[in-house]
Amino acid sequence: MHIPFDNTYAALPDSFYTRLEPTSVKDPKLLAYNEDLAELLGIEAGDLTEAVQVFGGNKIPQSAEPIAQLYAGHQFGNYNPQLGDGRALLLGEVVGRDGIRRDIQLKGSGPTPYSRMGDGRAWLGPVLREYVVSEAMHALGIPTTRALAAVSTGEPIWREQGALPGAILTRVAQSHLRVGTFQVFAHRGETENLKTLTKYAIERHYPDAEGPMDLLRKVCAAQADLVTRWMAVGFIHGVMNTDNCAISGETIDYGPCAFMDAFNQNQVFSSIDQQGRYAFGAQPGIAVWNMAQLATSLIQQLEDRDAAAEEATEIVHAMPQMLEDGWLKRFAAKIGIADPSKDDTALIEELLALMQTDGADFANTFRALCKGSARDQFANREAYDAWDESWKNRVSQEANPEAVMQTANPAVIPRNHRIEQMIEAAVSGDMALFERLNTALANPFEDTGSDLTRPPTHQEIVPATFCGT
Ligand code: AMP
Ligand code: MG
Repeated sequence: MHIPFDNTYAALPDSFYTRLEPTSVKDPKLLAYNEDLAELLGIEAGDLTEAVQVFGGNKIPQSAEPIAQLYAGHQFGNYNPQLGDGRALLLGEVVGRDGIRRDIQLKGSGPTPYSRMGDGRAWLGPVLREYVVSEAMHALGIPTTRALAAVSTGEPIWREQGALPGAILTRVAQSHLRVGTFQVFAHRGETENLKTLTKYAIERHYPDAEGPMDLLRKVCAAQADLVTRWMAVGFIHGVMNTDNCAISGETIDYGPCAFMDAFNQNQVFSSIDQQGRYAFGAQPGIAVWNMAQLATSLIQQLEDRDAAAEEATEIVHAMPQMLEDGWLKRFAAKIGIADPSKDDTALIEELLALMQTDGADFANTFRALCKGSARDQFANREAYDAWDESWKNRVSQEANPEAVMQTANPAVIPRNHRIEQMIEAAVSGDMALFERLNTALANPFEDTGSDLTRPPTHQEIVPATFCGT
């Protein structure tokens, strides 16, 4: 097997990471391999016999320089001074056929100095969930880390539920730099490391950025764009801690994430999010909060901190408007308006209020608008009819509302109950639903009449996703 590694992070100072090898596993078996992504990355895997050993952590491929990266972060608002890759290892970087540099990382590859009380492992469920959901996000056009491979380890691991099959995900990201990577050096007062990291992040992600404050500006824009894209497909990240917030603007660290079925601004899936800090409708505000933490860290390297604080405040305070504009643009497209004005906000909000009251299915209601059958999605049809009239009135001024809606409203999303059914089947060795989900989700805007578009029945509803990942 050949992976054309070209590593840069491993050339940064030793204090940025710990070099170590994955812990080998008993009986690695390849569950999934993403050939399209491998092709993009220039990986030649041959007949996959060696690839299984590599993605299982039993063999270090040539020119890999495995490291566990150091970072810190705010978890549910509380600062944790040292997190780091507790169960992941960066094998190295490749420059893809598209010219983009990406990390190749094993997740679930054994303990590291940052594991704290954890076992360094992952179980099959979250590995397959991340595989399916991250690839679905990619197909939806949303910036995200991607899944290159999933391997079962042949070893049991222990979680609240008992013994579960172990697995390793091979994850690909434009980088694994997080807000928390900046926080760790800023909080320790390691200014030289902070400067080195800032320079590295600029070169790798935002080569046009002129210094730390400009980097902040660009990350704020990327995060605002990302979160409005999540909102527009009903995605709830679940754990928007600063260590799960990528500088590249990609969705990262899929844990107890989910797509909403019934629309609810306050929807939470993560079993540990008792306060609803990371609820669906809270996500834009949290993105701003995370960027304020990045700002606080970046400032620490500047001579004139008062001036920097002033500039950073201005940058972060510009974010709510960006979020609002992005939200309007994306939700307007969902109802067929290509170039919205502020006056369209009320029309969108009225529809969402009706959906909230009725618990209307998020994806299917918007999809039905394209087909003229949205009325059937509501219990309170008179209320919908009144809205429908104002809506038709507004979109009569649009050139091609159907086409706009068609590309803004996915037909197929990775519904939580299907993910749970997929995991249950996979645990007993049946990968058919995993394959079927991946295939359908690769073309989310295609109407195939698939049963995968059906909302969960009462019994199928998954109330919470446990964080025991
Ligand atoms: P997460 O909430 O998954 O983003 O993880 C938060 C922190 O806990 C990171 O530093 C992870 O590397 C670490 N972590 C999560 N699960 C494990 C595990 N099973 N073993 C060791 N560290 C873990
Ligand atoms: Mg994380």
